Amino acid sequence: MKRFKRLTALVIAFMLAVGSFCIGDGATKVRADETPMLISTRLAEGAKAHGFTLKILTAEEAEDGYLQVWEHDKTGAKVYMLVNSDPERAFGILFKTEPSDDTGRLHILEHSVCAASEKYPGLDVFFDLSSQGFITDINATTWHSSTNYYVASLDEQELMNSADYYLDCSFHGAVRNDPNYFYREAWRYVLEDVNDPLTVTGVVYNEMKGSLSDLDSFTLNYVFRHLYPDSNYAYISGGVPDTILDITYDQLIKFYNECYHPSNCSVLVYGDINYDKWLEKFDSYFGEFEREEFHAPEKYVPKGNYGIVEDKFPVAANTEDLSGRLLYIWDLPDDLSYVEYNALSLLANYENEITSPIMQALNASGIGSAYVLSPYTLGDQRQFLVYAYDADTSRAEEFKKIVDEQFAAIVKSELDKETLDCMFEEEALAEELALNTNGIGVSTVSAITRAIEAQDIEGMILEEDLMGKLGAIFDENKVLPLFEKAVVKNKNSLLYAVTPEPGLAEKNEAALAEKLAAKKAAMSEKELKKLVEQTKAYNEWNSAEGTNDETLAKLVTVDPGRLDITAPVYDTKRTEKNGVTIVTANIDSDVSFYRYSFDISNLNKKQVRYLNEYIGCLGLSTTTRTQEQVSNDGRKYVNNFSARIASQEVNGKEVPSLVVSFYAFNDNLENALDHVFDMLYNTDITDPYNAAYIGQMATYSLGTYSDPGTVNSLLQYAAGASTSYSMALSWYLNGITEYNFLKEAISSDEGFEQYLVGMSNSMKNVVKRQNCVIRVVGSEESRKASVDSMLARLPKKNKTYKAGTVAKIGEKSKNIKTMALEMNTQAGFLMSLYSGDNSDVKELAAEMVALSFMSNAVYIPQFRYVLGAYGAYCGATSDGMVYAQLYRSPEVIGPYADILTTPDMLEAYAPMIEDYMDGFKLQLISQLITPTGKWNMASTELYYLAAGDGNSPEYDIAAAIRALTVDDIIAAVPAVREAYENMGTAVIAASEEISAAGDMFDKVYILK
Ligand SMILES: [Zn+2]
Repeated sequence: MKRFKRLTALVIAFMLAVGSFCIGDGATKVRADETPMLISTRLAEGAKAHGFTLKILTAEEAEDGYLQVWEHDKTGAKVYMLVNSDPERAFGILFKTEPSDDTGRLHILEHSVCAASEKYPGLDVFFDLSSQGFITDINATTWHSSTNYYVASLDEQELMNSADYYLDCSFHGAVRNDPNYFYREAWRYVLEDVNDPLTVTGVVYNEMKGSLSDLDSFTLNYVFRHLYPDSNYAYISGGVPDTILDITYDQLIKFYNECYHPSNCSVLVYGDINYDKWLEKFDSYFGEFEREEFHAPEKYVPKGNYGIVEDKFPVAANTEDLSGRLLYIWDLPDDLSYVEYNALSLLANYENEITSPIMQALNASGIGSAYVLSPYTLGDQRQFLVYAYDADTSRAEEFKKIVDEQFAAIVKSELDKETLDCMFEEEALAEELALNTNGIGVSTVSAITRAIEAQDIEGMILEEDLMGKLGAIFDENKVLPLFEKAVVKNKNSLLYAVTPEPGLAEKNEAALAEKLAAKKAAMSEKELKKLVEQTKAYNEWNSAEGTNDETLAKLVTVDPGRLDITAPVYDTKRTEKNGVTIVTANIDSDVSFYRYSFDISNLNKKQVRYLNEYIGCLGLSTTTRTQEQVSNDGRKYVNNFSARIASQEVNGKEVPSLVVSFYAFNDNLENALDHVFDMLYNTDITDPYNAAYIGQMATYSLGTYSDPGTVNSLLQYAAGASTSYSMALSWYLNGITEYNFLKEAISSDEGFEQYLVGMSNSMKNVVKRQNCVIRVVGSEESRKASVDSMLARLPKKNKTYKAGTVAKIGEKSKNIKTMALEMNTQAGFLMSLYSGDNSDVKELAAEMVALSFMSNAVYIPQFRYVLGAYGAYCGATSDGMVYAQLYRSPEVIGPYADILTTPDMLEAYAPMIEDYMDGFKLQLISQLITPTGKWNMASTELYYLAAGDGNSPEYDIAAAIRALTVDDIIAAVPAVREAYENMGTAVIAASEEISAAGDMFDKVYILK
């Protein structure tokens, strides 16, 4: 469903002007009578400019934007320009690339091509540019059929500089003349001394080791081996670690010369841009090439039903949980249109509802803990799938039978009109929000390049009135026949069953160690000496100075001193009424944002735990409404509903709170509040159907603890637990104690009974006027109506209000400064965090710049280039946290301790920072003030207003950063030192890595 939302929102986004404020240095603004959009109106299809011909020009919504599709006459390169008044501009370049083996050559090329170029030499210019340019987002991705580089900026000249960098890398990459980029990004042998064991490392090698050690990633990569055998779709485009070791530098360069050619590329430019300057730029690169023919990859011809295919997922010998994944998948027919594909997505969403017969049947079977129906895309092939989490794979036949029977029943069923109406209403609200809450530039560039990749650009961009057409498919009852033809009667399917195999992880590790030992044993003394020399030479190359000043000066041209940094002004108010604090901001809109927080410091630890479980069940049937009614009302009346427990700052004090928030159309407010309060008060925990479902959800939650997706937040809470109350609360609610609590709840009938009873009673004494804070961002009327309506719903203040033990959470974790979580993984994840009340804006600004510098000078070179960690970073955030994070390399743990000397290094380096200071300032400022939509900006402001501070600090910090001097950085060293001394560190790794790190840890927890 997410995908569907994103795509439909995007189609409309193209035609809308976004951005409620504008930032620029004045130099790139065009005169009012010469706006890019106005120039577009003078163009006509067939127009010529700089060696390009205009093939398509659309202007359905003449005021809001134009799509121009240009073709380069000499090479055939396509340029897509989406011209509108959005100041967050974006550029992307895409090459059609296909894997023809498991060496990950596309992925390795992606990494090494963008490292440096002839015009922009350096060790890793990409990282310097991304940490010092005035850029809101920059990255590169590899998919199954393409490689895509993109960048976004609030400044057109800066965007063009970065685009020039990408173009030069694409056609004159430094990797062509220097294999060191290959050794770093792909793989290399490491032998520091002839007596050491031979080892292997590399960024892509470690990245894929980490990625494929996730069960879901493994399943969704390897299933295509079996669905599309004997084709390029059968390969893992990112690379399989063992096979990555087979690719050589010369093979990579041959592939580079074959694929990176203008005739094989598409380019996208988005936003408030001058098309003429861009075409001139593109012609300067494309013009040197002659046209070549690149054939579209051959469509896969399906070979029929493959039945059930079983596979083994490597896990450690002592693994207890052996539940796996079941994936039933169909190859969708090639002639399925873009609208039809989206109709199937909407149908999948309809059937994913827990009351649908298929979900009821699957849930009743007890085969897995959660199920999802969804369309899927791999390159230019599309699929439909049914996925079961934490599945008993020995019951694969039974799972297949249930799905087949239920699919046959769906075809004969009648879709509920009201539910469908609610789904369409939900889309309308989601679109309204999507267009105004995100930086459209970046999401546009990545989504469109994906559409280009799927050769569906016309389908995606030129499809008018997608919602109308989808509505027609449903109104005319065409969706079920479509589903029957595309999925139910489609024989091109298989059921993939993946089961964890204990001991296989060790076996694979041992095989690699043996292979490396054999390799070493076979080498002559001379060869060994040569390898030691090579290792030394690589390390020397790698420790050379990064990008030179001259190169950086070509790329970073915005002057931070000239940036116009002004906070947007909202009409904010703070009042008290009947003991309730009310803060509001005025924005002119049909949609408003509501956030209600309730002080829960009267609760005990255990009560907070149960409350946390209870709010996880909101959305189930209540004692007054059926499941269908709750679901439909939820779709119709609220968007982004969330209920969570968090520490909130109110009047300068941290208060543990229940925080409820949602968006709603103004004229739906009463219905929205009825829906929300009914869920809060009356969710029917002990209803037998709900109880069974809650049991399954607990199993599912337990399973997510070993998901790399949750690793990040888990690390953050664990590392922060010793440093602040708010983090300790998050760690208590989401960390090891919750894990053990859930395990116990589902281990016996009595335990489960108690779990349900505890939850049922948890909402008592929570929703009161006790320190309730109401925050509303919306129109004048909606603000007033919501406050009145809320006050009428809140029970009176409770006089016998006493503090509970919730305030004591975190007392024990104060002494656990370094914590390890043992998990079944081939990757290593590490995070250090200090969270503090950093109210000195100038000091925080200095910390942010200093740590950005350290990140580039120490973390990236040490961890990424030497140890091959997939990610390495350290920095500070605007809410007073200093952090460092490293991931996807098993070796990061040991050496990390040495790097904790950062403040000393900072002192030594501080005078050098001056040369790079403008760059680091720019990057931080662009991250702080990226337009993120009027609701978001205004509600952040309200957060600080309720906390007792003034307006949102982002703009204060941005202004403070701009004013920093080197002396300020030196003056901040003691603060950084203090932060490091208060730091908490958390590590997630396999047990061998943890025991190899010795007594570094105060506490080791086992998660498996
Ligand atoms: Zn990668």
